[in-house]
Amino acid sequence: MLLDLDNFKLVNDNFGHLQGDALLMEVATRLQAAMRAGDTLARLGGDEFAVVLASLENEAQALYAAERLLGVLSQPVRLGDREIVPGASIGHCLFPGDGDTAETLLRHADVAMYAAKAAGRGMAVGFRAEMEGSTAEDLRLLSRLRLALASGALALHYQPQVEAATQRILGAEALLRWDDGELGPVSPARFIPIAEESGLILPLGDWVIDAACRQIAAWRAQGIELPVAVNLSVHQFMQTDLVGKIRAACARHGCPPHLLELEITESAAMQSPELTRRQLAMLAEAGFAIALDDFGTGHSSLGRLALLPVGKLKIDRSFVADVPGSPSHETILRAAIGLAHELGMKLVAEGVETEAQRNFLRHHGCSIYQGWLFSKAVPAERFAALVSAQKAV
Ligand code: C2E
Ligand code: MG
Ligand code: MG
Repeated sequence: MLLDLDNFKLVNDNFGHLQGDALLMEVATRLQAAMRAGDTLARLGGDEFAVVLASLENEAQALYAAERLLGVLSQPVRLGDREIVPGASIGHCLFPGDGDTAETLLRHADVAMYAAKAAGRGMAVGFRAEMEGSTAEDLRLLSRLRLALASGALALHYQPQVEAATQRILGAEALLRWDDGELGPVSPARFIPIAEESGLILPLGDWVIDAACRQIAAWRAQGIELPVAVNLSVHQFMQTDLVGKIRAACARHGCPPHLLELEITESAAMQSPELTRRQLAMLAEAGFAIALDDFGTGHSSLGRLALLPVGKLKIDRSFVADVPGSPSHETILRAAIGLAHELGMKLVAEGVETEAQRNFLRHHGCSIYQGWLFSKAVPAERFAALVSAQKAV
């Protein structure tokens, strides 16, 4: 297997190379402790490790071993006076089924590792023959995306957030849309990870913030004054000049800060607690609203959560999808609603598609939702029309 740390570059950039080295040594020590007699661990370079497990019989055992390694890296590491959770992605393959030379095995593990990164990091993925060629496809996607950013082929669409009881529109989330001339429409779930891996996410993220600020100001001039949320990638979130950049975008367009909400995912927020605390404090002080996205899928420390200036929790749509009906997810939703209220935060349910889901949420005190039941993300003019129609009523 090939193991690559997630976002190691951010550690070097934010904590310095000495701390980066210290993290690598800690990772190596933990991995070594998790090995068994006959296994081999090697650092191939940078933040990439290779692991040879001598006696595996099938893929299930490989996956099990990989999960064990990810487990030891999910515990926080102290770097000076801060803590970070290293996190890694693993690609694995089996001899001889997936290759019978060292070179082929390494290449296939690498392809699988990229698939793990693209699928959202922090996981282990086994090699599949269909994955080959996907890296060439990723490169094509990346070069088309660069072009799209330069040529203005990207757009923001806006998905309403509505009051569950009345369906009144309370605000919107801006979501990136890319309809490529050659590739057709490409989902952000596909291109955002590639943009992150390549660094293109920074100019892309700047574009999103700028476009959202311009739109907020334009709507305001038309008499529509509603908050708009934008998604921040963890890479953007870690930039030291983030707050200055966002303030400058607001100033450029005359967008009042309180109408701009920044969404960061729960897993991004918990990656580097100290940096998160500082960054969120600065954003809140500048007047921006903050929402924690995909809540329930990361590993929040409740102690830390209570101290962060977060106004909104967005419960991940995976928990909404099968309620009512799934007792465990019903419990999680109720608990999240209670937690948000206790912490004085709003709770927004994502991915509400049915009346039954809306009723369940309403009944249990979740007052805001977002989902196809009300509307998908729509172009700016269409969103304005939805709002105006409500005003007319
Ligand atoms: P997210 O921030 O959690 O956004 C919500 C996603 O759920 C959107 O997918 C939205 O279209 C989808 N969704 C909303 N309601 C429903 C529903 O009722 N049913 C179902 N099945 N899906 C629903 P989308 O637009 O494909 O975006 C996926 C992810 O891509 C976003 O998840 C976000 O993490 C990322 N993303 C999108 N735009 C941006 C952006 O401008 N910057 C960054 N960094 N990430 C973005
Ligand atoms: Mg979001
Ligand atoms: Mg979400």
